[in-house]
Amino acid sequence: MINAQKALLEWYTIYGRHTLPWRNTTDIYHIYLSEIMLQQTQVNRVKNEYYPQFLAKFPTLESLSLAKEEDVLASWSGLGYYSRARNLHKTAKLTNRQFPKEYKELLQLPGIGQYTASAICSFGYNQNIAVVDTNIARVIKRLFALKEPKNSIIWDKATELVNSKNPRSHNLALMDLGSMVCLPKNPKCTTCPILKYCQGSKNPEIYTQSKKKEYEKMELFYAVLIRNNHIALTSSTGSMYKNMLQLPTVDPIEEQFIAKFKHAYTKYRLTVNLYRVEKVIDDIIWIDLDKLDQSPISSLTKKALTLIII
Ligand code: SF4
Repeated sequence: MINAQKALLEWYTIYGRHTLPWRNTTDIYHIYLSEIMLQQTQVNRVKNEYYPQFLAKFPTLESLSLAKEEDVLASWSGLGYYSRARNLHKTAKLTNRQFPKEYKELLQLPGIGQYTASAICSFGYNQNIAVVDTNIARVIKRLFALKEPKNSIIWDKATELVNSKNPRSHNLALMDLGSMVCLPKNPKCTTCPILKYCQGSKNPEIYTQSKKKEYEKMELFYAVLIRNNHIALTSSTGSMYKNMLQLPTVDPIEEQFIAKFKHAYTKYRLTVNLYRVEKVIDDIIWIDLDKLDQSPISSLTKKALTLIII
């Protein structure tokens, strides 16, 4: 394994994504924030949009802890999975300006599970610990030729592989290898630094095929009511977009149909229908159309608003 670790680190030194801002800081809050954002959002969007914007608004753990939840949710707007923002806020309040260093203590904080706790320990404190995200799990499964392993087996193998002399770079290298070389479809084995140690690459039909994702289709119907430059929105109570503002729901009436669009949200593939109405039955909050960007509005509602408001 020592040779594989060495080959991986050499590759990382040349090809690793060293310029990512959260890899060039020792501020644990910044590292933690990046990990939470990266869980469901593409690296470039986090790097260029959400991470700098959020830090401009809440530069420290303390500033986040003092913020109102609605302001935190508004700053999270567009990222989706709003429970992440709520947990971030709760964690900021609980940690009292200082993040714990112990893995077990980190696990006690809201929204911090095995992955995030180990990522903070490794990337923030350079502790000798394995990190397993989707990319690393794929590399581990292929490297050790594990066929449909339990998560615990993947973590055990990742732990076996950790380079105790440089655990932080080792884990970052595995992460980059998974996202740049050991791709879900058509991994670039011929340029892989650990090809000669990889047992899975010897049986590509077993270990390098990916299963097709299954999505749930849903059709949604929303009401559009605008008066005096204000739009009627309502607070979402469902698991999707909880506590975010959204258009009120409506029974579809053909004559009042305005527009239809597609939207993807987690495992859902949504068809959204918009109807102009004169009154709504949900509890309404009137939002000034000129102040929409200051309100916690879901990405689905934002997309609808761009169709309605020219
Ligand atoms: S050799 Fe191929 S399958 Fe094995 S880790 Fe490298 S890219 Fe992945």
